[in-house]
Amino acid sequence: MVYSSKRRFVAGAVCPRCSEMDKLVVYSEDGKDFRECVACGYKDEMHFKPIARELDTRVNLTEEDKQDIQVINILPFEKPDH
Ligand SMILES: [Zn+2]
Repeated sequence: MVYSSKRRFVAGAVCPRCSEMDKLVVYSEDGKDFRECVACGYKDEMHFKPIARELDTRVNLTEEDKQDIQVINILPFEKPDH
């Protein structure tokens, strides 16, 4: 699951069925990711790997990159009682 359950328009995306631009929304439902065209009703389940996986495959990190990753990793687990 990548997207939130809230539907969001994808800027510049073209519907594969009706070819309308900016009509596709993406959202998650039951742990799956979908894209749907609001113009013609086209709906498709999306399959892709979690974005976090990119970090595993990155090589030759600069010190700045490492600091960025640390911030990303730490923030969600920060406890309010310290
Ligand atoms: Zn469409």
